[in-house]
Amino acid sequence: MMLPALPFNPSHVLIGGAWRKTRDTLTLINPSDGDTLCEIARGDDADIDAAVTAAQSALDGAWGKMTALERGRCLTRLGQLVLENVEILTRLETLDVGKPVTQARADAIALARYCEFYGGAADKVHGETIPYLDGYTVYTMREPHGVTGHIVPWNYPMQIIGRSVGGALAMGNACVLKPAEDACLTALMFAHLAKEAGFPDGALNVVPGLGTEAGAALARHPRVQHLSFTGSVQTGKIIQTLAAENVVPVTLELGGKSPQLVFEDADLDEALPFLVNAGLQNAGQTCSAASRILIQRSVYETVASRMAEIYRAKTIGPASSDPDIGPLISTKQKTRFKALLQTACDLPCIAETPIPDDLPVNGAYVQPRLFGPVPPDHSLAQDELFGPVQVLIPFDSEDEAIQIANGTIYGLVAGVWTASGARQMRLAKKLKSGQVFINNYGAGGGVELPFGGIGKSGHGREKGFEALYGFSTLKTVAAKHG
Ligand code: NAD
Repeated sequence: MMLPALPFNPSHVLIGGAWRKTRDTLTLINPSDGDTLCEIARGDDADIDAAVTAAQSALDGAWGKMTALERGRCLTRLGQLVLENVEILTRLETLDVGKPVTQARADAIALARYCEFYGGAADKVHGETIPYLDGYTVYTMREPHGVTGHIVPWNYPMQIIGRSVGGALAMGNACVLKPAEDACLTALMFAHLAKEAGFPDGALNVVPGLGTEAGAALARHPRVQHLSFTGSVQTGKIIQTLAAENVVPVTLELGGKSPQLVFEDADLDEALPFLVNAGLQNAGQTCSAASRILIQRSVYETVASRMAEIYRAKTIGPASSDPDIGPLISTKQKTRFKALLQTACDLPCIAETPIPDDLPVNGAYVQPRLFGPVPPDHSLAQDELFGPVQVLIPFDSEDEAIQIANGTIYGLVAGVWTASGARQMRLAKKLKSGQVFINNYGAGGGVELPFGGIGKSGHGREKGFEALYGFSTLKTVAAKHG
């Protein structure tokens, strides 16, 4: 499958408003068929240093002089341009990530929504006045950190760029974005549109490359004042260590093993599509994937058999044919996933999605599988697989359900399905998780809803207004006037 004509060269980086070559390139592969898509830039230390310098110049120049209202207008215009280019962004994500068309389109629309939301929010974050000693006026001001670094994974490039870069630009930071080496085309298209939207040169710089090269160079750069990282726990630890060396704040959005809890009084017709889709969306490569379904024993058989039916009816295929489930991001990820799945050989698999005979042989396809009942301490119920697999865990009492739900190293998202208002309130308090959804899961993307983890799921919050506090620093002014 060929790339569409692009208004930029995909093997270039955007630094200080100019597209430039890098010393070396990497090859981008279409995971649906294994074909080569194009060459992309392999940014290095020198490219990152140039991007940080360009970002600092923007802060010292036109970008730093813009009012909050003007910054907001740039973001709002960018949102409009994203909307006008939804189809090309969708096509790029379909080819690059192997994301089915409908899911890729939803991401492009969410990217526009982030730009609109943060465009509108840019001039609505204020300091406060603080009553203090007689003869003083004390107030606080929210200021940008300066140059912010954004390291983004391949699973939801558009959404994660929107929530991270969108919030940082709204607060007046100048950004250096390092997209994932497996998926960077929409990041480059976004950079092109930002130029068209009128962002001054250097406000947004994009340098694709390897994590251990461009990513590490950005994370350790001494003139980067804030780091926003989304990715694995393993890499998150490296980023936090590098941030500690420079004593800069870091937001870590890491993995999860998110549960949905189904009680016997739940509306199953309402719950069932969420139970399955939240596990299989993007072929399970979702940080907030509902990979554990905890089911009250009295309805366990009913829920298990109805979920199994849905699994068997799902479709698998190349992303451009818009199936329910596309390939994984790469054959490397497929190999990793299959190795992790080896630990499941002792578990009952109750449903599989049928694999069609005519799938491209070099595509990174894996078969979605539903396992149950699974002991809560089994590695399949504890480790993040990042693929289309869910485990079913029966429970008897509410206390047992809470204990199982809280019994992993993660705490990103949890879902609760019950008609009891009192139980809803109890569980919202007791579940150890950054977000709790009651009788829904994911709340339609939730651009407005603060998002982030506890435990090994990370710290700091993106999305919503809360992100804007993280992307700014607070200055206190105490004036003595008598
Ligand atoms: P990853 O950690 O390997 O890579 C993420 C990004 O970090 C990529 O851009 C990569 O190039 C870069 N990177 C890798 N090594 C680096 C290093 N040493 N220094 C600096 N940068 C480096 O993760 P992945 O495989 O791309 O993504 C999968 C993981 O991300 C899963 O664990 C998933 O749960 C997590 N994730 C979390 C969220 C969230 O919001 N919490 C969202 C998406 C993905």
